[in-house]
Amino acid sequence: MTYNKNINPMCNQKNLSAQTMLVHSGTDRTRHGETSEAIYFNSGFTYENSELAEARFKGDENAKGHIYSRFSNPSVDMFQTRMATFEGAEAARATATGMAAVTTALMSQVKAGDHVVGARALFGSCRYVVEDFLPRFGVSSTLVDGREPENFAKAMRPNTKAIFIETPTNPTLELVDIKAVADIAHAHGAVLIVDNVFATPVWQKPLELGADLVTYSATKHIDGQGRALGGIILGSEEIISADIHTFIRQTGPSLSPFNAWILLKGLETLSLRVERMSENAAKIADFLATHKKISTLFYPHHKAHPQYELGKRQMKNGSTMVSFEVNGGQEEAFRLANALSIILISNNLGDAKSIISHPSTTTHQRFSEEERLEQGINRSLLRLSVGLEDVGDLIKDLDFALEQV
Ligand SMILES: *Cc1c(COP(=O)(O)O)cnc(C)c1O
Repeated sequence: MTYNKNINPMCNQKNLSAQTMLVHSGTDRTRHGETSEAIYFNSGFTYENSELAEARFKGDENAKGHIYSRFSNPSVDMFQTRMATFEGAEAARATATGMAAVTTALMSQVKAGDHVVGARALFGSCRYVVEDFLPRFGVSSTLVDGREPENFAKAMRPNTKAIFIETPTNPTLELVDIKAVADIAHAHGAVLIVDNVFATPVWQKPLELGADLVTYSATKHIDGQGRALGGIILGSEEIISADIHTFIRQTGPSLSPFNAWILLKGLETLSLRVERMSENAAKIADFLATHKKISTLFYPHHKAHPQYELGKRQMKNGSTMVSFEVNGGQEEAFRLANALSIILISNNLGDAKSIISHPSTTTHQRFSEEERLEQGINRSLLRLSVGLEDVGDLIKDLDFALEQV
């Protein structure tokens, strides 16, 4: 039996706010009408007959459907659609980790003989891919100080196919002017790939500023509860379905349906969590800025940030990460971290639980002291990922730990 149901024309995707879409977009209900999204724990799919199998493999418009979960899966599709809606991207493909997203994005754009330009302040493994991994396949790379767009322009060569940046950077929260660098990339016929993890899709939209591809480690704020690894690449339908889809289909860095489901659940509360974590981070930045045992503070929306104007222009908020240098060196930094009770010592970020890390002895240990200093990482630097705890408690925790320094 069918019943009449009045449809409000104002409730289509175009008229609904981003928060509503984070809860509903992409949902593909089964005939059971489940509330929460179903987990399609299937590696493969069946065909009613051989003709349909043939047509689907051929890509016939009216034979659309799933073939094998390395290429596509309904739970993974739901996550991709919801992310694309929120990002304002035409299309997206999910991957098993954030590093799989970065590697796929880069590898899908280059071949032997090409050249890539990157900002030298990058997440450790991203820098490894650009600096050590790509050259093994005949793709040369140049790393520049990303704070000055002019440095990218100077590094461009006729065979430069991609620029890869991260902004704010890890761990010193330097900023790269996305719009200026996108213009430089396009003037040379190259694509701009932006790793947008630190700003989150809530506060910064690189595609609107001219980027061609955006990548995330969904492990960070998108899950944000320390449960699952995941990644995603977003961009135009053309580049995603041609380059990215083909790369994932043929080489297999695909996301598991179970992790896609966890990440879908994460998206429902993404903006709520990121908004509160960022509010807490701004208050902690204010607290640290005037503390006599802190020599330098890095927070994109704090006046003390040397690129404050750019931060205000391209990020809607300073986001969830605060870095700072404590007076002294490694000993003082360790003493501070060791005296914390609520804030955990760990290298993850974007989590509901606040996390502190000492980059020079952990995530950036493999670099020489000289390379670290070139990236602004000295031994007194600590990186704090601000979580969802009560901010008064977090400040109490930091205040006590600073007294022990
Ligand atoms: C964590 C992180 C990655 C890698 O993501 P994984 O999910 O750990 O593979 C890449 N870029 C940035 C900026 C990150 O913070």
